[in-house]
Amino acid sequence: MLRLALRMRLALRMRLALRVRFALTALLLSTLGCSSSQVEVAGGGALADSAHVPLYSPAELLGHYDPSEHPEFSRVPSDWTDKEEIYLRSEVLDAFGRMRAAADSAGVALLIRSATRNFTYQRGIWERKWERPRYMGWSAFEKARDIMTYSSMPGTSRHHWGTDLDLCAFENEWFETGEGLLVYAWLVEHAARFGFHQVYSDRAERTGYHLERWHWSYMPLAQLMLADYNVLLSSDSLGGFSGASVADSLDVIQLYVNGID
Ligand SMILES: [Zn+2]
Repeated sequence: MLRLALRMRLALRMRLALRVRFALTALLLSTLGCSSSQVEVAGGGALADSAHVPLYSPAELLGHYDPSEHPEFSRVPSDWTDKEEIYLRSEVLDAFGRMRAAADSAGVALLIRSATRNFTYQRGIWERKWERPRYMGWSAFEKARDIMTYSSMPGTSRHHWGTDLDLCAFENEWFETGEGLLVYAWLVEHAARFGFHQVYSDRAERTGYHLERWHWSYMPLAQLMLADYNVLLSSDSLGGFSGASVADSLDVIQLYVNGID
C-alpha cells in the first residue's frame, strides 16, 4: 500500500513536469511560426504522434481505478451534490467551485448529479441496459448502438476521466423553461470562462451521443486526456462487458469518443 502511494506520488510529480514540457513545446512551436495544422491531429487537438508524450495511463483513461484512492482526486462536498460519495480530479473540482460560486451569486444553483464513474460503475449501467426485455431478439450491434444514444460503452466514457460532470437534471427539456432555462443560459454564457464546455451539443455534423444539456466537461484536462486516448488506445483495448466485440464495427472511438463539440 505504501509502495503504491509512493508510486502514485512519483507519477504525479512526473505528470506535472510533463505538462510544463508540453506547454513549453507548444510555446516553442508557436514562436517558430508553425501553424496549428502542423501540430494537431483531427478530433484530439493533440500534438502529432512523434511529439506526443502521454500524460495519463491506459488504466486512468479506461476507468480502471478507484477515484477514492487516487491522489489527484477529491471528494465533491456533500452540499454540492445529491449523491452519497462522488469524486472529481482536484483541479476540476477547484474550477467547478469557482464556477458554482459565480453562478450562486447570480441566483443560479448548480447541482452535481454525477461526476467520476469508473469502469466497474459504467459496466453496471451498461449491463442493466443490455438485459432490457425489449432487446429480445436484437443483434449485439443494434443493442449496443441503441444503448449508446445516451450511455457509453465501459472504457469509453468521459466520466472515467474525472473531468466531466452532469448538472441539475437528466432531461434536455428541463433546461428549456423556468429555472432550467436560467441555469442553461447562465452556463452557455459563463462556463467557458471556468474551463467548462458542453461537449454533446446539437451541432448537426457531430457524431455519437445525442444532445446532453446536462453534461459539462473541463476542457483544459479533458483535451489532454482525449489526445492520450487517441494515441494509447484502440477498440482492442475495450473488453470485459457484453457486446465488447462490436466496438470496432461501431467505430466507437472515432464516432463516439471523438464525437464531441
Ligand atoms: Zn454525463
